[in-house]
Amino acid sequence: LRANFSVIQKETGFVNGLITVLHDITEQEKIDMERREFVANVSHELRTPLTTMRSYLEALADGAWKEENIAPHFLHVTQTETERMIRLVNDLLQLSKMDSQEYELNTDFVEFNKFFERIIERFEMSKSQNVHFIKLLPETSYFVDIDTDKLTQVIDNIISNAIKYSPDGGNIRFGFTVSNNMLKVMISDDGMGIPKENVGRIFDRFYRVDRARARSMGGTGLGLAIAREMIEAHGGKIWAESEEGVGTTIFFTLPYAEDETEDWE
Ligand code: ADP
Repeated sequence: LRANFSVIQKETGFVNGLITVLHDITEQEKIDMERREFVANVSHELRTPLTTMRSYLEALADGAWKEENIAPHFLHVTQTETERMIRLVNDLLQLSKMDSQEYELNTDFVEFNKFFERIIERFEMSKSQNVHFIKLLPETSYFVDIDTDKLTQVIDNIISNAIKYSPDGGNIRFGFTVSNNMLKVMISDDGMGIPKENVGRIFDRFYRVDRARARSMGGTGLGLAIAREMIEAHGGKIWAESEEGVGTTIFFTLPYAEDETEDWE
């Protein structure tokens, strides 16, 4: 809140009034500041891969292209950086779509158990790292009205992070519980964890605990920010609990629907 004071003074010099104008500009200022910060972040995130690519391309142009044992590696780096920039721009487009009004969910009525299991299975089939998956899913079927593409993206992101930050041989546990008409989903790892003071910030755009490390792993720093927007669009919440050196658990909630199929029998 900002206050502007104007003194009302008579020609005689006596002050006989005071006008106070209060502006609620803090909200607008906050939005402006966030926007500037966001643009600065985007520029920085794009400049990093671009400058890397420029130096590798310069080296190639200066003659490295002739060196059989150097050129393929240099080309590989520029390819990896290009892929990361594409991911970044795609993430940005997705965020901007979610910020605008045109964003809508394309929902389907699905059995959450099966849906969740299928995603986990896909990671089990393709996982390149030595991690163990432990599934603690209830037997009862629970139905949710969700945009399956978006929810798949959310869960993919959480699982990829869990794998990324897990040690070799670590466990990743999957489960969900039910209370107050909400499903509470948890994905937990035995990874490096997140310092207490940073746990709340991992859902912020471009926030990364260890910038250099996260970037070298190909992340955009937007995955969890997108996940938060998507979960909130479904009427749920997402948060993390973590202990450094012990592990991280990501929780999210979703409203669940009663099993409507029974009505048809
Ligand atoms: P990134 O592209 O960097 O993975 P995310 O938005 O997915 O971006 O995650 C933001 C940050 O949160 C990561 O850079 C990392 O520091 C932290 N983080 C996310 N998941 C985990 C996890 N399971 N264990 C430890 N740190 C994590």
